[in-house]
Amino acid sequence: MIKSSAFTGHDVYIRHVFTKVLIANRGEIAVRVIRACQEMGVATVAVYSELDRESMHVRMADEAFALGGETAAESYLNTEAILDAIERSGADAVHPGYGFFSENADFARAITERGVTFIGPPPEAIEVMGDKVSARAAAEKVGVSGVPGNTAFLTGPDAVVAFGEEHGWPVAIKAAYGGGGRGMKVVHGPDEAGEALEAAQRESLAYFGRDECYLEKYLTNPRHVEVQVLCDTHGTALYLGTRDCSAQRRHQKLIEEAPAPELSDQILTAMGEAAVAVARGCDYTNAGTVEFLYEDGNFYYLEMNTRLQVEHPVTEMVTGVDLVEQQLLVAAGEKLTMTQDEVTTTGHAIEVRINAEDPAGGSFLPSPGPVTSLSTPSGFGVRWDGGYQAGDEISQFYDNLVGKLVCWGRDRDTAIKRTLRALGELQVSGVKTTIPADIAILAHNDFVNCTHSTKWVEETLMPLVDLADGHDASIETNEDATDTEPKIKRTVDVEVNGKKFTVNMWVPESAATAQPASATRARKRASGGAASAGTGSGQVTVPMQGTVVKVVAEVGQEVAVGDTVLVLEAMKMENNVTAEKAGTVSEIRVEAGQSVSGGDVVAIIE
Ligand code: ADP
Repeated sequence: MIKSSAFTGHDVYIRHVFTKVLIANRGEIAVRVIRACQEMGVATVAVYSELDRESMHVRMADEAFALGGETAAESYLNTEAILDAIERSGADAVHPGYGFFSENADFARAITERGVTFIGPPPEAIEVMGDKVSARAAAEKVGVSGVPGNTAFLTGPDAVVAFGEEHGWPVAIKAAYGGGGRGMKVVHGPDEAGEALEAAQRESLAYFGRDECYLEKYLTNPRHVEVQVLCDTHGTALYLGTRDCSAQRRHQKLIEEAPAPELSDQILTAMGEAAVAVARGCDYTNAGTVEFLYEDGNFYYLEMNTRLQVEHPVTEMVTGVDLVEQQLLVAAGEKLTMTQDEVTTTGHAIEVRINAEDPAGGSFLPSPGPVTSLSTPSGFGVRWDGGYQAGDEISQFYDNLVGKLVCWGRDRDTAIKRTLRALGELQVSGVKTTIPADIAILAHNDFVNCTHSTKWVEETLMPLVDLADGHDASIETNEDATDTEPKIKRTVDVEVNGKKFTVNMWVPESAATAQPASATRARKRASGGAASAGTGSGQVTVPMQGTVVKVVAEVGQEVAVGDTVLVLEAMKMENNVTAEKAGTVSEIRVEAGQSVSGGDVVAIIE
């Protein structure tokens, strides 16, 4: 019998928890689950690709089974190989982590049919929430509204124009089967409708094998606020507070915090109750997250993620609830021992994602490679959830999360200061990381005052700062020659444990608010980062190790500077490799599916 540490003051005794859990994942989330299992006295089984044989999650698990292969498709998404590992290990439960098979109903069914427990929701709930249109319908059925939209599948641009005229521009065309920020196109006026619809359909077909698209009003200044839910198989459904994840780039989160700041108790409660209604509506069990966009006092349902989220630790830090432990208990059929009234939050927590990405110029280019040294912070209120140690390699084939720094403080200000202090102690060498961007975000008044939105990092912050190479965030900016607006230099000094970080910003006199011109500059710079891969001599080189997903240009084609030659995928991110010289494409040296190394010449322009 093992005593559970969850719900302080509400200890339960685990009777039916598993003997051996296989973790069908890698990196920091596999490590996180292994740690919870160790605390619960449950044996752990790791699985690994060829590239991960020596990786941290393998080193920590009690047993490990090879899946073979290098790419995700060959390894962590290889159903047969994982089922074989389950069989051979004798695991009685599988934790899918996030990504990979975590939201795959067929995988959950395949496991369950073998008498092995899937540590997650029922496959039917995964299916309902699996596409954006049926997920919206499920929420609407229980009275929870999404962003104003029209879920009829689009047959042509006329419906986009009609919707824009009725609800106002901009409008978002969203792929019903899209995800990870892909398959969404923003339309600013009637002229853009046709091209945007084609692009959304093309992208969706390429990535998700289907091209059904629908419409939503595109909110221009929203915050991303989500609610953690936890439901058992005995009818109890709880919400464990909110998280704000508005600091994003490419519609992907960089920094998350709990609870969502500057929202009234009334809104927080209404969101929590809406999230529970959505969960109950699809007979949800286990941990899940209901995502909303919040703007001008209203919140709109976005989607439900039927799995553990990357940012779950901030909820753990303020509620004291170990979510992974609870996932195991619920999957084992235990009752939740807490009531909604007993869920309380204390203080404030911030999670900073440390990605192997170069944020210079706002381009956030992937930066795979070996981690030559890694020194992680500690001290009061500091938690490090990592998937790598010094000497480990960050591969281009998987996502690029090196680890998560999670800091707790008695209030938001303390949490921000503590996070900056801890970031000062964090040293990562060998790969570029998002640390300079994270510091710039946390040190900025807009973040401190909570006036930022999901567009703020890209549209406001990045055009103002140019992040220096490497770990030291001494930030200088380039004056933009084409911009005649006077700028005022603002310097923010952040002293972190005796180490000074200086953030210099050139702020347009007119405002520190979002400006379309700056946004355009940021976008130009972002694509310019990849474009600079060319040498100007006509040789088009790739900026990093990756896999060619699409060759866009053809031999004989005329290209202008900035035209896309090919699309390169590294660490689940697409990067346009563009022409740096205008001319005729005389040679293409690669094809889709091919792996390339940083610096490889992939095309010649004459
Ligand atoms: P995905 O499944 O691709 O992650 P989501 O619908 O969850 O897509 O949205 C991801 C992010 O995209 C949100 O956090 C938000 O920044 C942005 N977004 C999505 N829909 C809208 C919308 N209607 N208006 C404004 N921003 C949106």
